[in-house]
Amino acid sequence: MDLTSTLTAIRDFRDERDWRQFHNPKDLSAALSIEAAELMECFLWIDKSEVDQMVDQRRIKIEEEVADIAVYLFHLVDVLQIDLPNAINRKLEQNRAKYPVDKSRGNAKKYTEL
Ligand SMILES: [Mg+2]
Repeated sequence: MDLTSTLTAIRDFRDERDWRQFHNPKDLSAALSIEAAELMECFLWIDKSEVDQMVDQRRIKIEEEVADIAVYLFHLVDVLQIDLPNAINRKLEQNRAKYPVDKSRGNAKKYTEL
């Protein structure tokens, strides 16, 4: 995956339409949440046992919603001038401290329950 050219394409799409003016943290974070809800809607009211079949049937729709989420996340990162790799690494470091391997391996408990 060539992330740099993808991010350039996203920025070009926005700038060709002069939409940067509409991009603020409040609306971008709302748009991100709305797109996440659209992804969740793909699985709404189905049994856990039906998830794999649903993914097969609706793969294109699911991929589109994931792409919407990624695009809005990129716009938010761009507007807030976040160094995303650095932010991710910082968060991973925090999570390593919260979820030590010896206590969290193989279970899904929240760190407060370990
Ligand atoms: Mg969508």
